[in-house]
Amino acid sequence: MHIFDDYKSAEKFLKKTLFAENNGGLKNATWCIIPAGGSGKRFKSNIPKQYIQLNGMTVIERSVDSLLKFPDRASLACIILIISRHDKYCEFLKFAKSSRGLNNGVPIIALRCGGSTRGESVYAGVNFLKNIASIDDWIVVHDAVRPFVSKEALERLWDMGSEEPDGAILAIPVSDTLKLGLVEKGQNDSTSVYIKKTENRKNYWLAQTPQMFKLQLLLDVFQRKTFLFTDEASAIESLGKTPRLILGERKNIKITTPDDLEIAENWQLKEEGITTGHSMRIGQGFDVHKFANEGKFVILGGVKIPYHTSLLGHSDADVLIHAICDAILGAAGLGDIGEWFPDSEPKYKGVDSRKILKKIISALTIKGLVVHQIDATVICEAPKITPYKEKMKEILTMETNCSFVNIKATTAERLGSIGRKEGIAAMALVSLLCE
Ligand SMILES: [Zn+2]
Repeated sequence: MHIFDDYKSAEKFLKKTLFAENNGGLKNATWCIIPAGGSGKRFKSNIPKQYIQLNGMTVIERSVDSLLKFPDRASLACIILIISRHDKYCEFLKFAKSSRGLNNGVPIIALRCGGSTRGESVYAGVNFLKNIASIDDWIVVHDAVRPFVSKEALERLWDMGSEEPDGAILAIPVSDTLKLGLVEKGQNDSTSVYIKKTENRKNYWLAQTPQMFKLQLLLDVFQRKTFLFTDEASAIESLGKTPRLILGERKNIKITTPDDLEIAENWQLKEEGITTGHSMRIGQGFDVHKFANEGKFVILGGVKIPYHTSLLGHSDADVLIHAICDAILGAAGLGDIGEWFPDSEPKYKGVDSRKILKKIISALTIKGLVVHQIDATVICEAPKITPYKEKMKEILTMETNCSFVNIKATTAERLGSIGRKEGIAAMALVSLLCE
């Protein structure tokens, strides 16, 4: 995640990242803007709502991750968060990497140029993009607090929306009966409201995001310097245009009240296969392997790390995965890795430890358990682990379906056998959730 205080440095970064990999320019790209400058209405812990935790991840991290499911054919070039100048939280965010497009996935950047209204923040993003994107490129605006937009809804939006010159938005038909309320004369109290009439709900839709428009159209809107609209479509409508309504989904809620957060938490748990009322179990694991004095690499967390010797072991000697496996088995009350995969068993000779982990995860699923969190430490003097930590995390997240993986590396300060570079040790702590 790269955070920029000014347009210039962000522009330089994006041009270097995007244009270098695409021979000097991008054709028909799509750019996402997420206005996240809001610090106004807050709830719970006095943290801006986009930074509230939703079962172990912030709402904005989930919103960005869901946008990464935008279809490949949209050629998503970049996701730009527009944050406040005084933002203290953004630097701690971590996002999933999209597998597509650029070497490191779709770049996600934050610009410290958020305004006091949503409109001002979107304007700042559009203004930034006018030097990078072409006027025919699509700009997709998404709320920072809509974490549940699905791949299917994004596909619908793109496939139908990209045919529309005036752009398109996700929206859902109103299902409740729609009343026009009027405050009683002389009262200034929002509780003294009476029904004036019942509207024909048939024609009414509730606007959601993402909303997508050509850059040119957004530039036209902002030329008028009006920033008080509550969504981009209404600004476009003010130009006499008619953006298309594309069926969104009820689940694509905007988290604006503590009630919404509660609903979202339950949905998220359900999505991760966890039902509420779950209890937690904790296990720890430790493993050590000796260097073999032959070989050209070690395997740690499923990552091949070049080194002048390999680790000795019946399997591929992935000491990190072994420690994690033991921690999982410990938390599940399922014994230890030696019982499951005895080293007297010829069929496990040289086996990829990821296979061992896979089998253990399947055993958990049958018992109604899911891995909730993994925290592991690799202890060695060499090789250097840090450059490979992200990749290890990626692999472990994939293998365990746990989005909360942390890998640490340390040395033994040259003390003892690990300190004399005779081998590598690993420790792990794992928590599981059960129904
Ligand atoms: Zn081992």
